[in-house]
Amino acid sequence: MIGDIKFLKFLFPSVLVKTTDAGIHLTFDDGPHSIATPSILDILKARNIHASFFLLGQNIQHYPDIAQQIASEGHQIGNHSYTHTNLFFKNRTFIRKEILQTEEVIEATVGKRTRFFRPPYGSMNVTLLNVLKEYGLTCVFWTADSKDFLPQKSSDMDHRIFQNTSSGSILLFHDNEYTALSHHSYLPRILDTLLEKGFVFTQLP
Ligand SMILES: [Zn+2]
Repeated sequence: MIGDIKFLKFLFPSVLVKTTDAGIHLTFDDGPHSIATPSILDILKARNIHASFFLLGQNIQHYPDIAQQIASEGHQIGNHSYTHTNLFFKNRTFIRKEILQTEEVIEATVGKRTRFFRPPYGSMNVTLLNVLKEYGLTCVFWTADSKDFLPQKSSDMDHRIFQNTSSGSILLFHDNEYTALSHHSYLPRILDTLLEKGFVFTQLP
């Protein structure tokens, strides 16, 4: 449920993230999760890769120590709303509250606010982008979706990622209940393959 992306890019050139460097950007949505997030942090640390974690305000409240670990290990933190509600049909007041509550809990937990927002379910419209502009947040979409939350053959995920990864690509994974037990079966292999192919992981601009 995405508004016409070209039209939204035209209307909001400064609100939608533009990646211009040669690196690729690794992103994880929905955390912090008690099992998935610490394990994924270890997988990243072992490869000296830094990523961006788009966190839910309500999950930070449950696991503030894991949010602090994400920040202290050098990863970027982004805002993924408070309750993971689809914001497409919500009014400005509701959207503001979801974003602002999460900014406040991020600031209270890691000492600073974020610059990035990723809409739950990738749903965005003019109202949401106007609110992001008001708060000085940049909307981060993705170019390669692992669909790691679905049961699937490893070859299908490989195809999704490797066919859609080039300079400036933004890769989407999740640290949530759907990936907590499965991420070991694909994440190390995919990251090692990307490193072997010569890709460099960089942070969002
Ligand atoms: Zn999400």
